[in-house]
This record gives sequence, C-alpha cells and structure tokens, in this order.
Amino acid sequence: ATPTALMVGTGRGAKLGILIKNGEVLEAVNDVKTVIFDKTGTITAGQPQVTEVVGDQTKVLQVAASLEGASEHPLATAILKKAEDLQVVPQAVTDFRAIEGKGVAGLLAGKTAFVGNQKLLTTVHVTPELTDKIQVLQDQAKTVVLVGLDQEIIGLIAIQDVPKATSQAAITSLKARGLKTVMLTGDNQRVAQAVADQVGIDQVIADVLPGDKADQVKQFQQTGKVAFVGDGINDAPALTTADVGIAMGSGTDIAIDAGGIVLVKNDLRDVDLALALSKKTFQRIK
Ligand code: ADP
Ligand code: MG
Repeated sequence: ATPTALMVGTGRGAKLGILIKNGEVLEAVNDVKTVIFDKTGTITAGQPQVTEVVGDQTKVLQVAASLEGASEHPLATAILKKAEDLQVVPQAVTDFRAIEGKGVAGLLAGKTAFVGNQKLLTTVHVTPELTDKIQVLQDQAKTVVLVGLDQEIIGLIAIQDVPKATSQAAITSLKARGLKTVMLTGDNQRVAQAVADQVGIDQVIADVLPGDKADQVKQFQQTGKVAFVGDGINDAPALTTADVGIAMGSGTDIAIDAGGIVLVKNDLRDVDLALALSKKTFQRIK
C-alpha cells in the first residue's frame, strides 16, 4: 500500500465525514463479510419516547421516575421526560441499584421499587393477561418495562425508538454488496425483530448482556472479517474486538475512542461509503 494512496483515501473520507484512523483500518474494510449493528442510537435515533403507560398513570410514572432519576440509560431519559410533561413529581429513593441489562431498583417510602424487564423479576408472577399485553406492545417495536413495588407489578411503560430515516437504505445497499447484516442488542427478542423487520436486517441476536457483545463478534469472525457499528459505552469491547470498529459521532467518547472509523454524520449509509472508499483506494494500489 503506497502512503500517498492511503492519504488520498483517508483524506477523501474525512471530507465526507468519515474519519478513518489509519491505513490498516481502511484496508480491513475491504474484506468485511458481516456487518453487526447495535440497535439503540445506531439503527434507531436513540431518542426513545414513552408511548403508553398501563396502570394508574400517575402512580406508575411516579415510581418509575423516582428510580430513573439516578440512571443514565436512554430509557430513563424517556421516562423522566414523560413524568415531567405530566407534572408528576419524583420521590426520594435510597439504596439505588442499576442492574446491568435488566433495570433499576431502590427503596421508595419503605418499599422496594423496581423498573426493568422480565429478567429482573425472577420471583414476581406475571399473569398471562399481562404477558399478552407486553407481547402486543413488543411486536409493535416498543420496549416494555415493568414497574413494581415489593412483590407486585403496578404497571407497564412502553417506550419506542424509531429507526433513523436512512437506516433502511443503508442496510439495503450493504446487502446488495453481498454482506450479511446482523443486529446485536440487549433489548428483548420481539422488539429487536420488529425493528429489524422495519429496516431489513438479516439476523437478530437479542437479550445480549453488555459483557457478551464482544463474544458474539468473535463468533461471526469464524466466518470472515466483521465490522461492528455502535455508539454506547457497552459497545466499546465489541468495537475493539471487531476487525473494523465503526463508532457513531454522536456516541459516547468511549465508543469513539474504541472505533477505527467514526461516522461524523451518524448516517448508516456512510458504512457503505467507507466500503466504496476502501475498494477504490486498494484497487489503485494493486
Ligand atoms: P441496549 O443498550 O442494547 O438496548 P441495555 O443492556 O442497556 O441494552 O438494556 C437492556 C434492557 O435492560 C433494556 O431494554 C431494558 O429492558 C432493561 N434496562 C436497562 N436499563 C434500564 C433502566 N435504567 N430502566 C429500565 N430498564 C432498563
Ligand atoms: Mg446504542
């Protein structure tokens, strides 16, 4: 690889808002067989909104907002915004705990309060009626969190994060190149599949705990080079494990540092553009 061609390639990328950290990264892109995407903030806009509250709306939002005040998760932001819009005032929480990939819990007026998915509720019974309700919402691509006090579920909150306008076009062009597209997420299988169907993703791996994302990347590396596209703190290990780590410019600093490529415009179509750039650069050299 001549240094001049590489400089032209990376320089052209920079003009397009595709920051390529070095020549090796640019070359690796050429051989990628699988592109794995994080869901929230990568395929979707990352601005989830509460769409439904099931149960006593004020009570459910109050318990949830009280706990989520101490969380930095995008779901927490959505819940706090809804509570604020409806002028629901959060209460003081002690013994706050964030349970990775599951939810949050704490003590609220002498009771154990929780907000999270069903993995958090191993000891609480979820009735068949409630399960049905949850699944209907999930099939509509909505993430559902259960809200509870002590051993009782007091309600549900459905939260939706819509795909970015360009995500579907981006997936279509990558598939047209013969690449396999995969979504990797900590969210529920039904929600993940519903979002994947909206944008045309080939395969979904859901319910992945943050610590397991890098292992999933390794699995796909057995069949060829892998690019991983993500934005979150919990994506950093997958970004460094992948042959090509692609971080969203809007992502956390930790993700941006871990990526070999940064998409300044947060547009997934730039993954395809990076591929085209790599092909061009390395054709000239050979
Ligand atoms: P991802 O970033 O891939 O969506 P996470 O591991 O951050 O995955 O979260 C996975 C799931 O854990 C969420 O979909 C939600 O059900 C639950 N969860 C995590 N954090 C919270 C929170 N602060 N409040 C409610 N639920 C949460
Ligand atoms: Mg994300």
